[in-house]
Amino acid sequence: MSTRQHLYDGKAKTIFAGPDAHHLIQYFKDDATAYNAVKHDVIMGKGILNNLISEHIMGVVAKAGVDTHFVERLNEREQLIRKVEIVPVEVVVRNIASGSLVKRLSGDCIPVKDGDTLPAPLLEYYLKEDALNDPIIAAKHITTFGLASADELARINSMTATVNTVLTEMFMAIGIRLIDFKLEFGRLPPELGGEIILADEISPDNCRLWDVETGEKKDKDRFRQDLGGLIEAYTDIASRFGLNTAALSTTGADQ
Ligand code: UDP
Repeated sequence: MSTRQHLYDGKAKTIFAGPDAHHLIQYFKDDATAYNAVKHDVIMGKGILNNLISEHIMGVVAKAGVDTHFVERLNEREQLIRKVEIVPVEVVVRNIASGSLVKRLSGDCIPVKDGDTLPAPLLEYYLKEDALNDPIIAAKHITTFGLASADELARINSMTATVNTVLTEMFMAIGIRLIDFKLEFGRLPPELGGEIILADEISPDNCRLWDVETGEKKDKDRFRQDLGGLIEAYTDIASRFGLNTAALSTTGADQ
């Protein structure tokens, strides 16, 4: 583990102080959690794969004009990122029904089933508050309680729509259906303009990814549903993107 000053310990990542006031280091751990960390395990090599996959995806998203916090991958487990103030909202986009959407709403009124294609991408917001179990909230909660301004929310929505288009295409090109995903955004410091940029990571930990041909799950549902083969699935995603996984020490623990 790095000897840098430890600032924040998340479920799957640790944040360390960066080389200057405007940068941080994001360290990818092997911890896997689900259901608000009720389920927890360590899956050797997961952090290395997510670091690599997220670097690749953030690069493609940036080329499409979405500003992100990603600067560069430093090594197997660390990225240099821009320091932001995280907006405490998880932004979820659903193209196909699965997960909590089906659990929460499927019934007589809304007979939605796992795998149903939604008529249009469905945008949802969840409050990032573990103690409350990340409750779903409406756009008006975000502006009413000052989590983000109306202008910031409009920018978040527009960036999210672009990310969905870019991700859907890039996954389809490797034979994967993008079912849903979660994004987080952050605010640059006022002296750098205060703008909202994309933060966190984009990896199989926060996307649902199904093989077009076989329907096989290539994401964290392998852990959530005890399907096994998570490392194989994440490695498959990385390989399909042409990322070099051969040199990765996915057998080594992260701490
Ligand atoms: N998601 C996430 N972090 C969370 C909750 C959800 O990355 O704390 C992602 C999840 O991987 C999926 C999408 O957001 O791609 C929608 O998740 P859902 O609401 O269905 O929750 P789940 O049933 O996965 O807990």
